[in-house]
Amino acid sequence: MKGFRLTEMTWEDVEEVVSGGDPVVLLPVGSTEQHGRHLPLGTDSFVAIDLAERAAASVRVVVAPPLWYGMSSHHMMLPGTVTVRPEILLEFVYDAVRSLALGGFSRFVLVNGHRIANLPWMQLVCERVQREMPRCRIEIFDPAYMSTDVAGELGFGPVGHAEEIETSHLLASSPDLVDMEKAEDHPEEETHLYRVDPREPGDSLVYVPRPIDSPRLTGGVKGSPTKADPEKGEIYRDHLTRRLVDVIERM
Ligand SMILES: [Zn+2]
Repeated sequence: MKGFRLTEMTWEDVEEVVSGGDPVVLLPVGSTEQHGRHLPLGTDSFVAIDLAERAAASVRVVVAPPLWYGMSSHHMMLPGTVTVRPEILLEFVYDAVRSLALGGFSRFVLVNGHRIANLPWMQLVCERVQREMPRCRIEIFDPAYMSTDVAGELGFGPVGHAEEIETSHLLASSPDLVDMEKAEDHPEEETHLYRVDPREPGDSLVYVPRPIDSPRLTGGVKGSPTKADPEKGEIYRDHLTRRLVDVIERM
């Protein structure tokens, strides 16, 4: 590994890497949230951690400890989901970034595993960081926005929930945590003037988090996880890792 995990460093290590080039800090942000009957509650966190760790294998970065919780109020209908209010998440992540900035770091990437539900408050964090700490630069890396071409080439259906995209990623990164025998397809019905996938063209209302319809019937799935494929998952996470490394190298 070329990068470092913050939790495995000493304060002297931090001082040394900051004075030796101020590496980019990656902060994985996920969720603990229902992902159907076939994927673990930590799916979004595993995705964010996987991308950060894989980038750290090839480029000199510091990986901060992940945030395992997100804003998941729209998934509270199935047990095990933990939701944290966006204003708390905003303050928490801001404090983490501010602490690291006081320690000398100045470049940050929030690696998002929880898709659009995390983005509004993450954008607020970034605005505040840049306003209050002008020497810092901060970006948000979101898999859906960073895979618009490759997801189409791989034939992935639209972004839903616990669908073939997330399932393929986990089949590649943590196959022991996926139970494909329990995967069931519940394709999303077309909703008038409403799209959440950045690949989909056309007019759309802006995303509002809403509970999944009939969660007991669908098992909490929106999409077609039975189409998931570990080889596609490998191509997909390779693409995202290259994109993340590219973002880090250009900061
Ligand atoms: Zn997810």
